[in-house]
Amino acid sequence: MRTLAVEANHKIGQKVTLFGWANVVRDHGKITFIDLRDMSGIIQAVAKKDYGVTPEDVIKIEGTVKKRPEKLINPNLPTGEIEIEVENLEILNKAKTPPFPIETNGLDIEEALRLKYRYLDLRRPRMSQNLKLRHQMISLMRQFLTERHFTEVETPILTKTTPEGARDFLVPSRLQPGSFYALPQSPQQYKQLLMVAGLERYFQIARCFRDEDPRADRAYGEFTQLDIEMSFIEQDDILKLTEELFKEITEKVFKKKVLEYPFPRIPHKEAIKKYGADKFDLRPKKDPNVLAFAFVVDFPLFTEQTKEDFYHGSGSAKFAPSHHMFTAPHPEDIKLLDTDPQKVRGLQHDLVCNGFEVGGGSIRIHKREIQEKIFSLIGFSKAQKEEFSHMLEAFEYGVPPHGGIAPGIDRFLMTALAEPSVRETIAFPTSASGQTAVMDAPSPVDEKTLKELKLKKL
Ligand code: ASP
Repeated sequence: MRTLAVEANHKIGQKVTLFGWANVVRDHGKITFIDLRDMSGIIQAVAKKDYGVTPEDVIKIEGTVKKRPEKLINPNLPTGEIEIEVENLEILNKAKTPPFPIETNGLDIEEALRLKYRYLDLRRPRMSQNLKLRHQMISLMRQFLTERHFTEVETPILTKTTPEGARDFLVPSRLQPGSFYALPQSPQQYKQLLMVAGLERYFQIARCFRDEDPRADRAYGEFTQLDIEMSFIEQDDILKLTEELFKEITEKVFKKKVLEYPFPRIPHKEAIKKYGADKFDLRPKKDPNVLAFAFVVDFPLFTEQTKEDFYHGSGSAKFAPSHHMFTAPHPEDIKLLDTDPQKVRGLQHDLVCNGFEVGGGSIRIHKREIQEKIFSLIGFSKAQKEEFSHMLEAFEYGVPPHGGIAPGIDRFLMTALAEPSVRETIAFPTSASGQTAVMDAPSPVDEKTLKELKLKKL
């Protein structure tokens, strides 16, 4: 039966069989130290014979668990008090010399190379630990929301445009040549339709697709968010749920401290005045073991429209939504929509942590007239209004007041783990230039496929 590296701690004096990879091999002439790495960690084995092992070989070790002499104890290793005295070693699969070291943290290695060999890069303990923490965080989210009567629902990936201010990814339809699906920039419309459907409490670990330029805190192409929507609530309910969830994640998953709880709520105007931006770091010293959360509220509903405002309007209107076009105006400011739209506050909320925006959401418009007015103010053409007619139609069948939030999973992990990029928290991210890890996409397709899709080469 197999023993995992950490389980050997409880088997001193016993014969065990271990399986894993040779992490480091140190040849000391008469004896060789082989560090075996498996899913649980690393353990030192001592061989009195040369078995010809080189790093990253897959090996099977049979031997006896021994206590290490006092002076040789390694306090930095969970198995540092023991070692395996090798009686037999078998190489199950020989490995070529890897293109980069695996026992380091890897941050100094060229990223393109790390992504090309991501399956090797993920062997480094820092990366496998990041993936495990990601899993623990998502499990906690699921459990936390399930206990509070939320239902997890999957929404389509092949869909129609759902703008969040970026370009869409398009997928050509074979069955309807010349027509395209858009990949969702978020499940925004579907989650609102689920509220019309009477679900009341929805969440999803949702993949979002946005064709915008990558940055350290934004992966190219796709990212994951915890998408939440609730009915019959006020902004305060969403903020309370979010802060409770993130306090629990910070303490239980990351074993870190929350600087201030409940999270401070800072009006947008005040944030700009005090910090010069709508995201800021409230930590007095930049202690990586502290997470300083805050909510930014009372955003202006509109910002100036720019040419980059894809689908936030025609590009020719004065205003673009500062969040998205479904965010409700502050009830006290509705009359200003006709007279002074730029003064209207939106019921938007952003979640900020250690200087990063880690989530955003809002109370939604649930009245057809107001939604139509927003479409007009952001300069929607007739054709653009037509694209969202299903929302206006749904708004005629009994819509509960509703709202939600969507904290970014990759972005929050990067912040909580103080990693330099979101890509350190994603198993197979695309590179900064949009190339996928390991597999080489995007790639050209052959003539036959293009013909089938009725697409022409430029
Ligand atoms: N759909 C929004 C986003 O992806 C979040 C929300 O309003 O709930 O940023």
